[in-house]
Amino acid sequence: MDIIRLPAFSDNYIFLLHARRMNIAAVVDPATSLPVLSCLDKLGATLVAIFNTHHHFDHVGGNEQLMEHFPNLCVYGGAEDRGRIPGQQVFLTDGDQVEFGGRRAEVFFVPGHTRAHIAYYFPSETGENMGDLFCGDTLFAGGCGRLFEGTPTQMVNSLSKLRALPDNTRVWCAHEYTLKNLQFALTVDPENTDLQSRYAVVARDRSQGLATVPSLLGIEKRTNPFLRWDTNSLQLATKSKEPARVFGRLRGMKDLF
Ligand code: ZN
Ligand code: FE
Repeated sequence: MDIIRLPAFSDNYIFLLHARRMNIAAVVDPATSLPVLSCLDKLGATLVAIFNTHHHFDHVGGNEQLMEHFPNLCVYGGAEDRGRIPGQQVFLTDGDQVEFGGRRAEVFFVPGHTRAHIAYYFPSETGENMGDLFCGDTLFAGGCGRLFEGTPTQMVNSLSKLRALPDNTRVWCAHEYTLKNLQFALTVDPENTDLQSRYAVVARDRSQGLATVPSLLGIEKRTNPFLRWDTNSLQLATKSKEPARVFGRLRGMKDLF
């Protein structure tokens, strides 16, 4: 399975999954249809599935036009998003599995950014390739999504599920927010040397117009403050040891950053 990253709008990423042997494709969170259609055109591939993580327009905006071009495709989304995702046919809950191109993904229910948000995790196959996590707006490189429809407690729960995955999991998040996220991270975790070096790399990459997605989950665990509610530095920065409170305070500070 090849994963092709398509930029959309000002900072969205759409991910196109291509199974070369069968020449079929699936797309994760099509913000808009045009970049997807032109990529499919180049590949000559047939789109068979849309995997939506949540109902926000910058994640489902391309659904309807893609369905018009490929009437047989299947639209997946979270069960709690019923009525909010255009064309949704499959209503997924935590622990469900979806299949694409001979690979199987596990579904995680990760409410917090929205009350219905899900993530798709393709484990590494033979141990050769890495696992792939499509997490929408739940986990970002260096950050996490805003809490529009959920509580800190829910989000800590959700992020705990993602944090439990192997370090060599690639994190395919839906926005290029990494630089700004790490600028914030440095204000709450300034002594973190992994974070300092990551910031240097990301600042250089962004100045050259390079994408910082996917990142690796191992790096997120060491540098992303929203996965580090149980470390000393962030408990000090938030004057709490209680996970939801540490997380909630960090999120509140980031909202104002
Ligand atoms: Zn969103
Ligand atoms: Fe978004």
